[in-house]
Amino acid sequence: MVATPIGNLADLTLRAYAALSACDIVLAEDTRVSGALLSAYGLHKKLVSLREHNEAAVAERVVGWLGEGQKIVQVSDAGTPGISDPGARLAATVWAAGYRVCPLPGPSAVVSALSAAGLDTGRFLFAGFLPPKSGQRRAQLEAWREADYAVVCYEAPHRLLDCLEDMVAVYGENRPLVLARELTKTFETFLRLPAGELAERVRADSNQQRGECVLIIDAAPPAPAEEIDAATLSLLEGMAAAMP
Ligand code: SAM
Repeated sequence: MVATPIGNLADLTLRAYAALSACDIVLAEDTRVSGALLSAYGLHKKLVSLREHNEAAVAERVVGWLGEGQKIVQVSDAGTPGISDPGARLAATVWAAGYRVCPLPGPSAVVSALSAAGLDTGRFLFAGFLPPKSGQRRAQLEAWREADYAVVCYEAPHRLLDCLEDMVAVYGENRPLVLARELTKTFETFLRLPAGELAERVRADSNQQRGECVLIIDAAPPAPAEEIDAATLSLLEGMAAAMP
């Protein structure tokens, strides 16, 4: 499982290059996209298309190729295979057949966005793509209203504004959000704003509705401590004074 760049071609790791050089077959989603990456590095390999709809069938063929001693690499169009991309079924089939699956780590949009967002990332939830329909999306967002961890979502550019409007509707104007767009590319942008301001900014500037993006919902602010009324306070003070 070889991670490939999410925009900047220089982000291919040395180990990824070595594996792509040494392998016999590259499994790719769009063979033109991965073919272009390989060409940029002067590599020419047999490419086999592996997508969600044919993953089970290709996985069986891969087991056969491994039996013949062939070396197989899987890549995604961009980023890490298996992360909101095909790969899990292939890996499970290969393990079940008694072979090893090795991760060659590298770029992934979720980790790249988190690493520069400036949020507390001690714990986070990766939610992948949110439901495309607003009703289902709002129901999903409700689940994180009180979350004490950040939630990372992938979103398609044409749905970004609708998604932000749903976030304002569910969380109110003030929930801190981060929009990480076009990571590692020329127009890389981080917008770290309260939900209402971010939605307004994206609405007003159509450039912000282009390209690839990651949205991070910051943890809900802690609930304000409840006020203690004067009578309870004086009772507590009296009890404290009477204690040895
Ligand atoms: N496997 C990939 C990974 O490891 O990041 C994710 C593949 S998923 C099909 C594609 C989504 O990842 C995009 O819709 C976008 O949300 C996010 N993404 C990919 N590249 C990105 C980039 N350069 N900047 C921001 N988001 C990106």
